[in-house]
Amino acid sequence: MSNYFEPQDSFIEISTHHFAKVLFNDTLQQHGLFALETFNAGDIICNFSAKETHTQPNFLTIQVSAQQHISLFPEFLKYTNHSCEPNVFFNTENMNLIAIKEININDELCFFYPSTELSMSQPFDCNCGTRVCLKIIKGATFLPNSVLHNYQLNSFVKNEISKQQD
Ligand SMILES: [Zn+2]
Repeated sequence: MSNYFEPQDSFIEISTHHFAKVLFNDTLQQHGLFALETFNAGDIICNFSAKETHTQPNFLTIQVSAQQHISLFPEFLKYTNHSCEPNVFFNTENMNLIAIKEININDELCFFYPSTELSMSQPFDCNCGTRVCLKIIKGATFLPNSVLHNYQLNSFVKNEISKQQD
C-alpha cells in the first residue's frame, strides 16, 4: 500500500493495460501500478467509475463524497499506492485520474490517500521515503491544515475539513 518500489526489488508482471501495468513486488509482497506512457502535469490519464458503491470504506475503496466509497472500475486502478509526494490525483467530481506532475515510463503511479479519504479503515505506516513523508497515514481528518494545504484535495474533503476545524 505504501512503499515506493526499489529497483533491486524483485517484480512479477501481473497484467498490462493501455497506459499502465500492474507489478507485484515479491520483496514487499504488494502490488503497484506503473506507467507505460509519459504524462505531463494536468493530463487526464483515464476516467474511472464505481464498480460498486459502499457506505463504509475498506482497504480497496476510494471515497467520493462524505458518505460514499466506491470500488474502482477499471479494477486495476485499485493498485494505485499512496505516496506523500503523489504524481496522480483521483478527481472524484469529474471522475478522472489526473497527472499532477511529469510522469515517465516505468514510474509508479501514486496518489495521496488523504486527497480522497477522510478516515481510513486501515491506517498504515508510510515508507514512501520522500522528504515530506508523513509516516502515519490515517486520512485527511487526522492531518493539520498546514500539511493539507500542500496537497490537491477533493472538494468534499475540503468541505469536511473546514467543518471540523471551525
Ligand atoms: Zn510517505
